[in-house]
Amino acid sequence: MSSINHAVEMIKSICGSLLNSKSNWERHRCARCQLPLTDYASVVNGIGPICANKNTALFAKTIKANYVMVLAYSDSVDIAKLPSITVPVWNILKDNVIPAMSAAMKSNPDLYNFFHDGNDTRGFIRIIDWILSFPGIDGTTRKNLIEIVRQLGYVAVASVLEGKASTGESKIWFDTSVGMLCLTGSSCKPGYAAIKKLNGSTVPKYRGDKTPYRVPAKYHEEFLSAAMTYWPCFEEKAEDVVVEALNWLATRPAEIIVNNPTKSSNSFVRFLEAKDGVEFTMVWEKDRTYKVVADIKTIPYNHRKYKPNTKSWFISDKYKTRAEEILKLHYGEGM
Ligand SMILES: [Zn+2]
Repeated sequence: MSSINHAVEMIKSICGSLLNSKSNWERHRCARCQLPLTDYASVVNGIGPICANKNTALFAKTIKANYVMVLAYSDSVDIAKLPSITVPVWNILKDNVIPAMSAAMKSNPDLYNFFHDGNDTRGFIRIIDWILSFPGIDGTTRKNLIEIVRQLGYVAVASVLEGKASTGESKIWFDTSVGMLCLTGSSCKPGYAAIKKLNGSTVPKYRGDKTPYRVPAKYHEEFLSAAMTYWPCFEEKAEDVVVEALNWLATRPAEIIVNNPTKSSNSFVRFLEAKDGVEFTMVWEKDRTYKVVADIKTIPYNHRKYKPNTKSWFISDKYKTRAEEILKLHYGEGM
């Protein structure tokens, strides 16, 4: 059985012969961005130099691999639909799925669920990029090949291949002052939808709005998955950002009410049980927040306290009901 390295050698020799009749590779397009490939090295890689430069960022964003699904999707690829010149290379990939799975299982017996750790299956992606750069791949074959990439754990690469990810610069961080995970990046429709559906999240209001996407700390898994899938080119360490969110959550009292989306999807209040009282934070809104604050100040000063470091209000137990009434008045029945 031939190794993945052998497949790469085979690709080089096939592209060498394509090069002799240049018209044969002029129709090849970058598997990632669909732009025409204009030189031999790019045709060999199946991707252009700009997309190749993003590989480090993309390959760093992986989730657990699922080899059972890798096998299922590779069995679904109909070789009659592949460009015939690529079939020998595809066969090498297919022959290597089970050996790769066995190798990975040695370090982790759960074949449904494990991370690659340096156990390199990037060679598979390398071959799939190359096949996808050929003209005339049908939709089903394309989908099966991309699913193999995703099931190998390379979520970011898969979503770039699907055309669903923004490959522009992005940034993620945790804002301790409001307890929100934040992200900035170029506009991305599927990413927008993924973030927007999370309760209590806020999204930019219009194209070009530089306001970050924000997600409550407790949705750290969903946040990370959306960031890796749709805005994978961030440089921050995802684990560090999540740890910050977890630490913040650990220091907070149990949250009893979050958000009321009825008046405006972007307004929200976090209302927390605190020792001897309640605590809440508000997102600043020019027409609303000062009225809320004015009402809070009707509570005797020794029973309320503004905490500038967390930008939150503490109200003692005695005036808890009053505080709830004030918030209900300004933010509606959802409170
Ligand atoms: Zn490209």
